[in-house]
Amino acid sequence: MTADRPRILVATRSVHKLRELRELLRPARAELVSLDELGIPDEVEEPGASFAANARLKARAYARLSGLPTLADDSGLEVDALGGGPGVRTRRFAGENATDPQNNAKLLEALRGQPPERRGARYVCVLALALPERRGPRGGIPVLTTRGTCRGRIALEPRGSGGFGYDPIFEPASEPPGGRTLGLWSAAEKNAISHRARAARRMAPILRSLGF
Ligand code: IMP
Repeated sequence: MTADRPRILVATRSVHKLRELRELLRPARAELVSLDELGIPDEVEEPGASFAANARLKARAYARLSGLPTLADDSGLEVDALGGGPGVRTRRFAGENATDPQNNAKLLEALRGQPPERRGARYVCVLALALPERRGPRGGIPVLTTRGTCRGRIALEPRGSGGFGYDPIFEPASEPPGGRTLGLWSAAEKNAISHRARAARRMAPILRSLGF
């Protein structure tokens, strides 16, 4: 019966992240609910200097608002030739309200003329689980985090419309230069190797051990 199932809030506005996390986590007992399903309109700033700091901050803030165990995802792209950028600025790379095509175009422009061996990059995902019912020693909400990365390179031009975000210009390391981007991989293929999949595989036993 659903009434007996514990609920975990997935604190993201991204329908793509939500879909991937639902496919990847599949908790044994708990039901994953979204911010929109709970009618939580609040936005949380992401001022942190790292994916982990932002994920922890989002998880804690929404756990406080909802009173529910809360899972947050902070993720992005680290490009070798950009010294690890855009990093925590991945979503805002081409401006505060930039679209995915604008971000992709800006990254392709930044790497223009660079050969495949200088286009190395990795996706990073940090998942943070905040547990508001288990107050820590100083009264704070405890948070557990897991991390996953996915190595690849930035393609010469966008190809494919699968996935989201930077997927049309991200060639996983298993592809040869000029091979398929994640935009051309199936959801199942992406979910086998992605940064989010790796973080989720580490989060799954934690959820199990907590009875979720
Ligand atoms: P966040 O919502 O602040 O965590 O920003 C995440 C940024 O990284 C957005 O620009 C996403 O499009 C991008 N991103 C994160 N994960 C993926 C992915 O799996 N594929 C493509 N882009 C991603």
